Amino acid sequence: MENIFLPKEAVGQLFDLQGEDALLGQLQHQIKTLPEREKLMSLNQIRNEVEGLIDVRKNEGLEQVKKEKRLELELSSIETSLTEADEKLYSGVITTEKEVKSLQGEILHLKERQDVLESDLLETLSLLEEINSNIDKCNSELEIQNDEIQTVESALNVVENELTQKVAEAKSRREGIVKILKEEILTCYETHREQFPSNAVVRFDGPNCNGCYLTMSAMETDRIKGLEVGALTECSECGRLVVR
Ligand SMILES: [Zn+2]
Repeated sequence: MENIFLPKEAVGQLFDLQGEDALLGQLQHQIKTLPEREKLMSLNQIRNEVEGLIDVRKNEGLEQVKKEKRLELELSSIETSLTEADEKLYSGVITTEKEVKSLQGEILHLKERQDVLESDLLETLSLLEEINSNIDKCNSELEIQNDEIQTVESALNVVENELTQKVAEAKSRREGIVKILKEEILTCYETHREQFPSNAVVRFDGPNCNGCYLTMSAMETDRIKGLEVGALTECSECGRLVVR
């Protein structure tokens, strides 16, 4: 790489820049992985399930209401038929025993049907009651879930706002540093940052690289030692920027 030399204040600025980049990376990761957001997602999922269950129950309820209406309609028509048959029986229009027997048979048949329908109706009504109480239960659950969702949502907003604020502050500090750092230093740093996002530049500190922690050869160590303090070079092991 070309010879780049950092004046004393630029060394601090470059590490400050790296510090802001590391902070930005952490903050962005933190924002992406907030536990509140995960909690909110799982709460919303549960709410959707409960809402789906309520829909299913409501449809079941509608079916039972239809059945109830149908049964009531048939029961009322049977009642009419029974009244008519009774009236006919005692009106005196029927004279033969055969006609009486046939009418009594009809009445018996109607009453049997009436029994069946009435017990069907009772069953339907009790089923309907069960469905409605189930819907009520789901709705109460939903209310609790909505409250909880609201609480988590506001907590998420607070944390998110705090972190977003910190990101904005770090970005503004970063911009300030970028303005005063020399173009060639900046370009060199950015190029190395593509490969080492969190620590593209390290300080020279003897034969052990502060980035990869590998030991450089004695020759390489001597080479860097020989450089002017503030010179920018690369670690021969990992390729990170090393500030002499
Ligand atoms: Zn290294």
